[in-house]
Amino acid sequence: MSITPPVQAADTRPVLFDSHCHLDLPELLPELELHLANARALGVEGFLVPAVQSSAWSLLLELKQRYGFYIALGVHPWWACPTELNALAGLEALVALPQVCAIGEIGLDFALDEQSFAIQRQCFEAQLQLAAKLKKPVILHHRKSQNELLQVLKQQQFSQGGILHAFSGSFAQGKAFIDLGFKLGIGGTITYERAEKTRKAVKQFPLEALVLETDSPSMPLAGFQGQINTPAQLPLVLKVLAELRGQDPQHMAGVFWHTATKLLKP
Ligand SMILES: [Zn+2]
Repeated sequence: MSITPPVQAADTRPVLFDSHCHLDLPELLPELELHLANARALGVEGFLVPAVQSSAWSLLLELKQRYGFYIALGVHPWWACPTELNALAGLEALVALPQVCAIGEIGLDFALDEQSFAIQRQCFEAQLQLAAKLKKPVILHHRKSQNELLQVLKQQQFSQGGILHAFSGSFAQGKAFIDLGFKLGIGGTITYERAEKTRKAVKQFPLEALVLETDSPSMPLAGFQGQINTPAQLPLVLKVLAELRGQDPQHMAGVFWHTATKLLKP
């Protein structure tokens, strides 16, 4: 008589990739080792850390060397200003390094003051051009700006793809980015029942067009409002997405890992 050994939880646990976590920010950096241990204990093994401003670029290169993170360098629209625009002159040499896998976090945020729109556009367009030149994908930030992002991507005939981080919106909105070669970053938004449009849309996209993210330390999941978000929450995002789509989380995690590491390979 042969007895099949019980499958241990550790063997079947999905291995997860957090495609957007700001581990270099002051909310997380002081206890980085603890956050990593907590995340890894739950199967989160891959981390993409995007920069938000030029002063972070050297720190991210150090963190990459020390912890093996995937990193993206760039200037986030919240930090767009003439000084940062000038700092972009130093970005090309860094992004050309094989250890930098993308330009990010870049984009447009039209929930900010209208006075910032012009400099946001300048920073975004310059970084997009650089990504095209260096053949690197981009990590996109959006808020009230999806149409304008699409417009600029099309104007520049940008073909390197990347990730539309923190996707929210309808199926048609997401599909417009997928059609331009982008993956959609799915995070805590889908854990809120009121996010009906987004929850409905994420059921319909091809699995291969999605990646998971926490956006730590921002975007706490439903039930965790007011707390600092960490990559250890990523399994909960997967759980909700698997329930919405009616798919096996283990299988989904494998596809997401493949998608993220293929897109972000140095
Ligand atoms: Zn971000």
